[in-house]
Amino acid sequence: MEYREDGKAEMSAGKKLGHTVYVGLGSNIGDCEGYLDFALKKMAGHPRIELDRVSTFIRTKPVGPVEQPDFLNACARLQTSLEAGELLIFLQQLEQEAGRTREIHWGPRTLDLDILLYDDLVSDDKTLTLPHPEMHKRLFVLEPMCEIAPEAVHPRLGKSMAKLREDLMKVE
Ligand code: AMP
Repeated sequence: MEYREDGKAEMSAGKKLGHTVYVGLGSNIGDCEGYLDFALKKMAGHPRIELDRVSTFIRTKPVGPVEQPDFLNACARLQTSLEAGELLIFLQQLEQEAGRTREIHWGPRTLDLDILLYDDLVSDDKTLTLPHPEMHKRLFVLEPMCEIAPEAVHPRLGKSMAKLREDLMKVE
């Protein structure tokens, strides 16, 4: 699957995209692969985002108290000039476009998009907590992160994705 649109390289070549962001993608209802492809294409098509790297899609068991189908998960690296709050709003719009409803907390969803890392920003804001507060506890995040950026450092914990994954494998 090719997410880069024709002309995108030239469009972004002269532009200062500025921020490096990792986004976690998940889906466990309907055409999961289709929903992840939809989100990746929309991100790649945004004039202020360049989609840099995409992991493979991995099938994972759901975490939490709700019985539900397996997830399809992936991670992507973006370069963007959007501020963190602007990016969150854009990602939430994509979740809505994919028909996501928020009836059950932890429940099944057509599309879940999380900002995992935004540069080395650290924030305790409930609307946008950075790094994502669960990322270091979830192998379904760390596995694809290790594929695309094993050396990326969690700015709160001071450990690389590879080290976090190794630590989590010991306790699981
Ligand atoms: P969820 O149901 O897991 O997608 O959570 C959505 C809520 O988490 C939204 O209200 C977001 O404002 C909030 N949130 C906090 N931190 C983040 C983050 N790093 N990425 C995405 N959503 C976040």
